[in-house]
Amino acid sequence: MTYVTISKRLETIARYCPQGARVADIGSDHALLASYLLLQGIASHVIAGELNEGPYQAALRQIHTLQIRDRAQVRRGDGLAVLEPGEVDVICIAGMGGQLISSILEAGIAKLEGVTRLILQPNVGEEIVRRWLLLHGWQLIAETILEEDGILYEILVAERGNPDLPYEHKDRTKEELLRIGPFLWEQKPPALKKKWQNERDKWEKVLAQLNRSDKPEAATRIREIKAEVEWIDGVIACLRTDRP
Ligand code: SAM
Repeated sequence: MTYVTISKRLETIARYCPQGARVADIGSDHALLASYLLLQGIASHVIAGELNEGPYQAALRQIHTLQIRDRAQVRRGDGLAVLEPGEVDVICIAGMGGQLISSILEAGIAKLEGVTRLILQPNVGEEIVRRWLLLHGWQLIAETILEEDGILYEILVAERGNPDLPYEHKDRTKEELLRIGPFLWEQKPPALKKKWQNERDKWEKVLAQLNRSDKPEAATRIREIKAEVEWIDGVIACLRTDRP
């Protein structure tokens, strides 16, 4: 039996793929996720989309080496342009910024016809992705945050439905939940506290720099950042758990 070893991050993404789905992995790099999905018997067919020549060639080699060419295709192109409408059930886009993920979805909106699930893993800018989903009729159905090699990753899973639903009847406003993640807020995993502590540390460093500045605009910025730190403190206070 042939195996591919993948990161905990990609393995977690794979767990959100429904059994037997036709899956597109956009920005697939070495087509590791696509190969894993096939070899594990999760996906019935995969399309690995890649914009850049180097990773595209690497993906071709990977699919060739694993002898899965009958159920895997590697296509070179920008975002969802590599897909025909109705060709896949699930689209994964992982390891890019939230802005790029959202612009790929926006530019390829016509290709989402027939797609039932999006599995998105922004490295940064999760809020931008949540906003895009909310505005385009995609309902978040799950979120996860995980840590691997000291880096925190968030995975957002969405299906067509009522996009407002996850944000309703919560003890935080929709705007706040777009930042935090409605499911993450519900679950309060220890990694979420770590994320917001990291965020707080980042702002504290900026504050220290600004406090040394004699530029007139520094005072306004200091006030804004202090308000942000105060908000983050409120979030962290609610995330205190006895878990490690
Ligand atoms: N998805 C893999 C993962 O999560 O491990 C690879 C992530 S890698 C950091 C991002 C990949 O996306 C690169 O191989 C890059 O060439 C590709 N990429 C960037 N913009 C793209 C676009 N508009 N369409 C398709 N692929 C793109």
